[in-house]
Amino acid sequence: MKKIVLIVMDGLGDRPIASLGNRTPLQAAFRPGLNTMARDGITGLMFPVSQGIRSGSDTSHLSILGYDTVKVYTGRGPFEAMGLGMDVRKGDVAFRANFASRSKDGKIEDRRAGRLSENTEEICSAISMVLDGVQFTVKPGVEHRAALVMHGPGLSEKVTDSDPHETGLPPREVKPMDSNASRTAELLNRYLSKVREILDKHPFNVKRSGKGEPPANELLIRGAGKAPEIEDFNQKYGMKGACVVGIPMIAGICSLAGMDVIKAPGVTGRVDSDYESKIRTAISALRDHDFVLVNVKGPDIAGHDRNPELKRDVIEKADQAFRQLLGLKGEVVVAVTGDHSTPCTYGDHSGDPVPLLIYAGGNRIDPSERFDEVSCVSGSLRIQSGDLMQYLMNVSDRAEKYGA
Ligand code: ZN
Ligand code: ZN
Repeated sequence: MKKIVLIVMDGLGDRPIASLGNRTPLQAAFRPGLNTMARDGITGLMFPVSQGIRSGSDTSHLSILGYDTVKVYTGRGPFEAMGLGMDVRKGDVAFRANFASRSKDGKIEDRRAGRLSENTEEICSAISMVLDGVQFTVKPGVEHRAALVMHGPGLSEKVTDSDPHETGLPPREVKPMDSNASRTAELLNRYLSKVREILDKHPFNVKRSGKGEPPANELLIRGAGKAPEIEDFNQKYGMKGACVVGIPMIAGICSLAGMDVIKAPGVTGRVDSDYESKIRTAISALRDHDFVLVNVKGPDIAGHDRNPELKRDVIEKADQAFRQLLGLKGEVVVAVTGDHSTPCTYGDHSGDPVPLLIYAGGNRIDPSERFDEVSCVSGSLRIQSGDLMQYLMNVSDRAEKYGA
């Protein structure tokens, strides 16, 4: 039995870029580490979630870890909250939220409160409170965005939005969608009216009004979701799992799955992240774990920025760090792939497949010699992300026999 390191290069896949000689950023990158692993291993293409699906990093990582997204993906609320680094636990209900401007006659005038440019930490903590034994926590996101997490017993996510989704209307009363949700809806309505009282008088808004700016005096909530109940990773696979990731949302998913979240020094979740440190930390985590997931976020950030040169450069930097893995050959199964494509020409996630390599030693080797979107077409694998774990279990001699 071997241990497994799975490296997910976020948003790795791309399309041909004119300024890179009609190559993808991965093709254009100097990548001797990845190419060595491709030559001495097997490669192919992986379809994140399913063919042509434009998956998010959340759904895609869930699927890569072998969870059925249709069953466990419970709405964006909890994942957005985890993305802001909030602690979301089993039974919690989470929402996406916006600070908005409510006029004196109670109607929403601006759903984004003038796209708030200042930090809302202060008002978020002012409206975090305990009500009837339920903890309401609000944390700021970018600009007017925030997330709300309710923590307490007997909560239900079957409640409607308070967000009217258009201006000129008052915020909606939160309604239960089934009888089990009555208390949650009632608590939310009481909470939101307290929030209005606090925000109307808060110095943050007094200052804004003084400057003639729209107040952030309403918290509009939407997309209620319950923290997903994810089968324990360690039990599911009989492996002790860990992750070394820089982005809070993926750390949140792994933590819900019962994996250990290991922090590596210098890891930021941005393009300036210390990849050497990340890989070194992953390798030392193998001492007391059987499976380590690593996420490298840089390629996705560059893809959203439509910056192919930056994407090529972060791939080169990551490749340099990956060379530490070459010494593990024969002892550890190393797999490298993406969670989806984020083409620089598109600026967002696309449904294009991603390259995949498995470098195991003692396993089959196929004719592919390089690791990129085009070279991996000559590799032998064509799999969906949901089958990756099973495949890795097989090449690490951990799979159970099916039948006699
Ligand atoms: Zn992603
Ligand atoms: Zn992305």
